[in-house]
Amino acid sequence: MQEISSLSAMRAWTRAEKARGRRIGFVPTMGFLHEGHLRLVDRARELADRVVLSVFVNPLQFGPQEDFSRYPRDLDRDRRLAHARSVDCLFAPERSAMYPADPIARVAAGPMADVLEGKIRPGHFSGVLTVVAKLFHVVEPDVALFGRKDFQQAMLVQRLVRDLDFPLEIEVAPTVRELDGLALSSRNTYLSPDERRSALALSRALRAVEQAWRGGQAEAAALQKKGMETLAAPGVQPEYVALVDEAMQPVERVTAKTIVAVAARVGATRLIDNVVLGEGIAADPAVRA
Ligand code: AMP
Repeated sequence: MQEISSLSAMRAWTRAEKARGRRIGFVPTMGFLHEGHLRLVDRARELADRVVLSVFVNPLQFGPQEDFSRYPRDLDRDRRLAHARSVDCLFAPERSAMYPADPIARVAAGPMADVLEGKIRPGHFSGVLTVVAKLFHVVEPDVALFGRKDFQQAMLVQRLVRDLDFPLEIEVAPTVRELDGLALSSRNTYLSPDERRSALALSRALRAVEQAWRGGQAEAAALQKKGMETLAAPGVQPEYVALVDEAMQPVERVTAKTIVAVAARVGATRLIDNVVLGEGIAADPAVRA
């Protein structure tokens, strides 16, 4: 496995591989890798000849009161996991290489970024799209992979690529869960054992909405209420339960394509999750963490 930290060396690596006719798959992450990230690596290997995984905790996407400084970091562990999963190139740039100065040019993320996560985290998606655009320019992949777990991010990245004509494809992979339903997240490491149990309220709320819908309820308002009741478990402060279409617009009557998105705080930790109603949580890959 190649390990690269300079932007120019990264670009040179991709260009040399491409000159040999190889297709480049790219998995951008903030590190502290888990099986959700590693399944993206597996999928990248199916779609490309070489896999680049980046690890960069992007300061631009954290608000002033958020967890940038305490976000979990362990590059040695990430290196071992990436190597074991046959990543070809680990790209781990320093903050000073990515942002020698605070950037004045940033991607404006538009109204799709002002709802759900973007409403609670102002500026978050502008920070995400800015770093993703920079990483795409540096890595120059043919295909980039994103997780459905952050579906609003994945939709916005798809729009970024279309709207600004990045010459690459975006592939979105399903949410990887633990056997009891909790979506894998680097932030799960913040949870105490009690909080870990409380955190199950998120996937439980999604399942409750899904069951009510399968039982014949199609009114979004009734399903939203059901989801909120389930989410409001002891130790959980619900932030939202939303039923939206792929453009993040709220729906009144739901269909199989409707996305149910939930966010809550468990102790000091903010967690999110979602499901496409017609696909269902049971279809997501489940792993022993
Ligand atoms: P992060 O390191 O949290 O920025 O995530 C990097 C990528 O991994 C993003 O595309 C996430 O959507 C994806 N990801 C994170 N958690 C999961 C999960 N449980 N299942 C699938 N993809 C995930």
